[in-house]
Amino acid sequence: MDYYSTKITALIDELSRLPGIGAKSAGRLAFHLLNMPEAEVNRLTGAILDAKRTVRYCRECCTLTDSDLCPICASTGRDHSQIMVVENTRDLAAYEKTGKYNGVYHVLHGAISPALGIGPADIKLKELMTRLQGNVEEVIVATNSSLEGETTAMYLSKLIKPAGIRVTRIASGVPVGGDLEYIDEVTLLRALEGRTQL
Ligand code: ZN
Repeated sequence: MDYYSTKITALIDELSRLPGIGAKSAGRLAFHLLNMPEAEVNRLTGAILDAKRTVRYCRECCTLTDSDLCPICASTGRDHSQIMVVENTRDLAAYEKTGKYNGVYHVLHGAISPALGIGPADIKLKELMTRLQGNVEEVIVATNSSLEGETTAMYLSKLIKPAGIRVTRIASGVPVGGDLEYIDEVTLLRALEGRTQL
């Protein structure tokens, strides 16, 4: 049974599709939006559409950016021979926040998961292999310590080592199944410094 008019229900439905938004929060947000001045609603929808239309993958590292090359790949002050492989752009941001890593990144946009039918071709692996033909000395595998993250790490190691490039894995201390973005900076740095050769 619909308590609200069709348009309000439609708005609540759309909002409740967002991650972490249950039916109750969706209702609260919908009424908040309806009470906002139209100019503010325009600014919000404009920001969403603008981001959606301009954000794309960095030509080099595949992170989400609004230019051809992301600021990290475009920087001459970074060590381009050291590539840290992460699962998503939020993980990249977590390491950037520490301010102590001076290499560059590669964003896979996922991890290998046989259970979910996600194979090597479904993540940005080919793009990484292309980069390795350049001058790369070390690949630091910083995928999550979940089953998928570990599977991806082993796969990467087998794939890259024959090319004579050093492959390292960030130390555990990152809790099993833990998402990198929720882990504090000290733990992240310790994991980076304590990385071991694969
Ligand atoms: Zn980049």
